[in-house]
Amino acid sequence: MKYDVVIIGGGPAGMISAISASSLGAKVLLIEKNDKLGNKLLLTGGGRCNLTCIEKSNKEFCSKFGKNGDFLLSSFSIFNFQKAIEFFEDLGIKKEGNKIYPISENSKDVLKFLLSKLKENKVKILTSSPVSEIKRDDDKIKSIILSSGEVIEGRKYIICTGGKSYGVTGSTGDAFAWDIGHTITELKPALTPIEIKEKWTKSLQGISLKDICITVNKKKYCGDLLFTHFGLSGPMILNISKNIKPKDIIILDLFPNKNKEELDKYFQKIFEKKKNKFVSTFLSDFIPEKLIPFILNFSSIPKTRKINNLTKEERLRLVRVVKEIEFNVAGLLGFDKAMITSGGISLKEVDSKTMKSKIINNLYFAGEVLDIDGPSGGYNLQVCWTTGYVAGINSIKDD
Ligand SMILES: Cc1cc2nc3c(=O)[nH]c(=O)nc-3n(C[C@H](O)[C@H](O)[C@H](O)COP(=O)(O)OP(=O)(O)OC[C@H]3O[C@@H](n4cnc5c(N)ncnc54)[C@H](O)[C@@H]3O)c2cc1C
Repeated sequence: MKYDVVIIGGGPAGMISAISASSLGAKVLLIEKNDKLGNKLLLTGGGRCNLTCIEKSNKEFCSKFGKNGDFLLSSFSIFNFQKAIEFFEDLGIKKEGNKIYPISENSKDVLKFLLSKLKENKVKILTSSPVSEIKRDDDKIKSIILSSGEVIEGRKYIICTGGKSYGVTGSTGDAFAWDIGHTITELKPALTPIEIKEKWTKSLQGISLKDICITVNKKKYCGDLLFTHFGLSGPMILNISKNIKPKDIIILDLFPNKNKEELDKYFQKIFEKKKNKFVSTFLSDFIPEKLIPFILNFSSIPKTRKINNLTKEERLRLVRVVKEIEFNVAGLLGFDKAMITSGGISLKEVDSKTMKSKIINNLYFAGEVLDIDGPSGGYNLQVCWTTGYVAGINSIKDD
């Protein structure tokens, strides 16, 4: 049987491609190598699934993807974050800041919703069916071969195999090795926790610091940081991880709104009122308890020191320490722990209006397999909803 559209990869991009193509009446086959669809989708947002996020405009949204963001502008004019919110409306939507979650805050419900749409549209789903090879005649795909040897034919094909990060979910970069004549830009793990050399932070595992700033390679970044058993994570760290390398030094500033002189004056003002307090008690108004013994130690201030016994030198050391805690980067956790992959199918070879290959006539791409990666916060799933929707629709329209 020849399908109108054959879609490879049953992640978010593949599922929405299948839903949009089948909504136009196409006979669609969705092929997934795992025994079920959406393994990575289930992990998103810590199981809550941060579906998308709201920005002032499409331009603003796309600017978050850096220089490759412009590629998304045309497809966003067809299916942007507002359209995605409408699409998931029946699921119930929860807004948290500018982030959008399903009302149940459960990624399983997002998967159930997509599966029900696939069923409603009579999409044929083949699970436990890894695609191992693509057969093509120059500018046309003839068929695809499953690892079982089965040959499948379609008029159009959409590749939605994801990147090569978090491989346990099935995203192992298979498509990058297929003979499809496309350039693959350099693949790097992105949105990755950072491993540091300092061992003292181990006991701080799970503690997060809000609204702090760090400086790395003379660049300042602000946001939230999370201590893990191997180092640093949290939204700000994940988002900048692409720019960090081993041996970099991260300087943490716990009081980013004041320079050292201002902070010293601020401390002195509070000290006037709290002369009899322990320095550690004073610090607990600003800093998580577990971090305080380390701050005192780095400032060479005894644990038992009260404010009225604090010397000027000790006070100045304290000011310096809380503004300059150093971490030495040992490395980045690799592809197996990266939330997304930077790099992929070169955008130069894909039509941004339709997601159609500029090299192969009956081939489209959607989702993370493309050379586009954004910050954490719903941006990457939105790429799947947008490019998947557009690829699905155009695979049928465009003959
Ligand atoms: C822990 C974690 C949390 C995340 N949280 C969020 C979040 O809250 N919000 C957000 O926007 N993004 C989040 N992301 C990123 C988001 O999950 C991805 O951007 C998204 O899943 C990419 O979708 P995709 O469909 O392109 O690829 P994938 O989800 O990777 O799906 C690709 C599918 O293709 C299948 N496949 C691969 N090769 C073959 C083959 N040879 N034959 C058949 N099938 C194949 C795979 O098994 C897989 O099911 C998170 C990622 C991780 C790892």
